Amino acid sequence: MSHSLTLICPLPNGIHARPASRIAEFCAGFGAAIRWRNQRNGQWADAKSVLSLIGGDILFNDVVDIEIDGEGAARVADELGRFLRQTLPCPRSLAELSPSPYFGQPAGQGVAIGELCVHRGFRMPEPAELPLSMDRDADLVALAGARRALAEQLRQQSERQGGEAAGVSRAHLAILSDPDFRARLDAAVADGAGPARAVAAVVVHYRAQLSKSASEYLREREMDIRDVGRRLLEALAPEIERAGEVLPEAALLWAEDLAPSELLALDRDKVKGLLLARGGLTSHTIILARGFSLPVLTGVQRAAIADGIGRTAVLDAGLGALFQSPDTVVLDYYREEEALLTAQRQRLAKASGGIAASADGQRLELAVNIASAAEAQLGFAQGADGVGLFRTEMLFMDADEPPGEDEQFQCYAEVVRLAAGRPVIIRTFDIGGDKPARCLPAPQESNPFLGYRAIRMYPDQEAVFRAQLRAILRASALGPVKVMIPMVATLGEARWARSLLEEERAALGVAEPVPLGIMLEVPSVLFQLDAFCREVDFFSVGSNDLTQYLFAADRDNERVGNLYDSLHPAFLAALSQAAATVHRHGRWIGLCGEAAAAPHALPLFLGMGLDELSMSAPSLQECRRRLRELDAGRCRELLGRALECADGAEVRALVAAEARPALPMLTADCLMPDAVWGSKAAAIKGLVDRLWLLERCDDRYGMEEDLWLREQAYSTGLGHGFAIPHAKSGHVLHPTLCLARLAQPVDWGACDGQPVDMVLLLAFNAADAGAAHLKFFSRLARLVMHEDFRQALRAERDPERLLALLRDRLEGAA
Ligand code: PEP
Ligand code: MG
Repeated sequence: MSHSLTLICPLPNGIHARPASRIAEFCAGFGAAIRWRNQRNGQWADAKSVLSLIGGDILFNDVVDIEIDGEGAARVADELGRFLRQTLPCPRSLAELSPSPYFGQPAGQGVAIGELCVHRGFRMPEPAELPLSMDRDADLVALAGARRALAEQLRQQSERQGGEAAGVSRAHLAILSDPDFRARLDAAVADGAGPARAVAAVVVHYRAQLSKSASEYLREREMDIRDVGRRLLEALAPEIERAGEVLPEAALLWAEDLAPSELLALDRDKVKGLLLARGGLTSHTIILARGFSLPVLTGVQRAAIADGIGRTAVLDAGLGALFQSPDTVVLDYYREEEALLTAQRQRLAKASGGIAASADGQRLELAVNIASAAEAQLGFAQGADGVGLFRTEMLFMDADEPPGEDEQFQCYAEVVRLAAGRPVIIRTFDIGGDKPARCLPAPQESNPFLGYRAIRMYPDQEAVFRAQLRAILRASALGPVKVMIPMVATLGEARWARSLLEEERAALGVAEPVPLGIMLEVPSVLFQLDAFCREVDFFSVGSNDLTQYLFAADRDNERVGNLYDSLHPAFLAALSQAAATVHRHGRWIGLCGEAAAAPHALPLFLGMGLDELSMSAPSLQECRRRLRELDAGRCRELLGRALECADGAEVRALVAAEARPALPMLTADCLMPDAVWGSKAAAIKGLVDRLWLLERCDDRYGMEEDLWLREQAYSTGLGHGFAIPHAKSGHVLHPTLCLARLAQPVDWGACDGQPVDMVLLLAFNAADAGAAHLKFFSRLARLVMHEDFRQALRAERDPERLLALLRDRLEGAA
């Protein structure tokens, strides 16, 4: 008997060690042979072997053919399919509860529990449903009046709202005052449409135009135009009815799509989460939702939720999953999850507010990398000090024609307005290498990263480059803007770019010079840096490219990935010398490649005295928090030692040892004498969550998995109602003993068959535990054999006294 099935890998990080071991463990339970073939690379893997599965190099969205031969093949295919689609993407403690998730496209983080309901929103009427003009002059006056009134409303809103909501109001104001938008409305009335009909017709026009755009960002602007149109219609044709919305106290609201103002109009006390059939990740609705910390799932069709409407559901945006009519164990799991995420948000907010500086006051600007205004909004919501890299090539990629000067100006202006006085570094288009654009064709090359790319292309595309410079210069009237040129290798290139910038500035009559900088990403610049400092105003290290060119290792080629290391001492030496030279000339130097947010890098960059780090928005808060814990003097000294290391691994080990001041293994906040968890899985989750919250573990799902691996080999229930789950895990940051006393004993599969009410979790780091882990475990296990110890532990409810008791007994047993 044989059977086959196909899987599209749903895991964002592919089938790495952890999921591979879960798959192998699941498959080992069947007698049939199970083999996988990755369609992308043709690799075969034995699904019962962890190493074989990892060797299949299965990445996110890879298509895998699975062949099952032997006993009960059809049943195995059925069960395996369910496991792979429903269980595998869930963290272990959730998978243990056999949930039935529906997966969509996650947008943002967070979980929400509520009643599934359908949004009854506004329907944009077709133009033909609305009246023709009766009196053109009067209609033109009515239209102008409605526009003025809405503009005033939007202006007031933007002043009142602040944050993302103000940004959306400003964007809508820009649409309302856009000359093309206005001209089309007036022309429609002049052609005989009544004012409401003119609005509907113009919305239809833009929908048709933008829906064809190759740029997802521009496609998503359609929603904003529709929103402005809806508000004009409300004024011009109040008879168009808006269905009333009656929401339950906690709603998970489904909508086909949702305009930003519709989201703003919702009762946000009641709407806990959003499910959208449409809505891309850069749409303003999504940005706003993220700003309100509303979990969102997109790509959810109405049919998928039809049976759950009016019932309780859980939305887990991090996982991208919706659980309809979940049973009580899944609900309890998510109630815990809600409480945990709230506690974590509060902790982070408390620790990350204020100015970005080290503990001893050395300032390090933390800026955001963006490719659109939407991302700028996100960055500023996370406290970015500016935009450190605006990758404008995203406006060119996927377009048939290079974007015009006006279109670019609108985009840059939106970002500069959002920045509200903070600096914005706009990088001119970096097409080529791994970023081809059909609107700027390049020849086929055998080494595109070493070829016709970025500034090397500009002389052939001078008109396009000049148009971009003009758009940037115009935007500079609205706030502090800087121009940055990618891939500069020679002084001649920098001088040429400067001359064009100055020519365009003179032609436009822009009085204030706009600072001109270069990406420091081609190694030749490092060796002529004194001269470059006299030519340009600032530098931003493109660590992605500088690393690849320094080590001659393609940034996208995993085979040479071991050579590509932005923490290698050679790279650090290049950077620290560059920072010193640039500062000697009184110039400014930032860094905007991926290394800016790399774990371990922050103390070294602070030690070098870089002026700025620019990274994607989600990394900002955590980076600011870590920065505040660092001492710049010690980081300079640490950098000195890092430069003496032989390779990147040594640097990482050095920083890790330094960055982790020893924490005691046992503190009062690791002790939970009144835990209410209803199962072994819930207890393991609860204990690991506590480790994570206390920053003793960096990946709670990975940590859980490591603990479960141990439980699979043998139960850690030692008898007498005690369990000591333990693991040596790469996810443990500090060795920890965590205790929970469960109000209700749970089944642990203990050796004496008795339920467990006392759980002592032992966590050691895989790299530095040595034999300490086993020694500690046996010391603890010996103590548990004594009845007086068990009784004393059970009787003590005060965490401080419990701490003293445990310390005392553990020392006594050492
Ligand atoms: C870099 O090279 O580090 C950089 C920020 O630019 P990109 O990744 O766009 O080449
Ligand atoms: Mg680069």
